[in-house]
Amino acid sequence: MQTEHILITDPTEQATDIRRAACIIRTGGLVVFPTETVYGLGGDATNADASRRIYAAKGRPSDNPLIIHVASPQDAAMYADTDALYDRLAKAFMPGPLTVIMPRKPIIPLSTTGGLETVAVRCPSHPVAHALIAAAGVPIAAPSANLSGKPSTTTAAHVYADHAGRIEAIVDGGPCRVGVESTIIDLTCTPPRLLRPG
Ligand code: AMP
Ligand code: MG
Repeated sequence: MQTEHILITDPTEQATDIRRAACIIRTGGLVVFPTETVYGLGGDATNADASRRIYAAKGRPSDNPLIIHVASPQDAAMYADTDALYDRLAKAFMPGPLTVIMPRKPIIPLSTTGGLETVAVRCPSHPVAHALIAAAGVPIAAPSANLSGKPSTTTAAHVYADHAGRIEAIVDGGPCRVGVESTIIDLTCTPPRLLRPG
């Protein structure tokens, strides 16, 4: 497989390139893309086959759930049972490096959630990630793009060595700003629980 290298210098002026990557996602392909935390390996979160391909490409155990990425905080309600606490967290911290776990809606298959009835949702603030998810029109399931067991990747060049020839495209938006994974909060237990400090 030939992996396309899609270089983005200004996401607002590169609508064609973003649309191209979004089309790959919509048709079941995998695309590496930048977020404000680390590079992600993304596929259509509503497509069970795309999720299975993500696990295979990373060498990730299939019971380790994927985070789904949405274009705007309100979109979470299409994929998860949101509540008032979610709305407050979203207002304070989204878009940004916060992931929230809520009950899953059936449109998100079990192969995306690692077999769980809950789903992790995040709304990235990176302009390329935002533009890609919005253009795809589907939530994007994306773990960090590194191979399982290796450190997370903050540049497209690092990703290239691991995935070239095995995924459809790499969207290169330059180095990621934060370099640390998102904070994860579980809202499905009382009181809510911090699963990972970001
Ligand atoms: P990452 O490896 O950075 O993509 O983050 C994925 C991590 O988020 C998983 O390894 C879990 O620790 C956590 N996670 C994702 N979805 C869920 C979920 N539904 N329930 C609990 N933890 C989750
Ligand atoms: Mg990771």
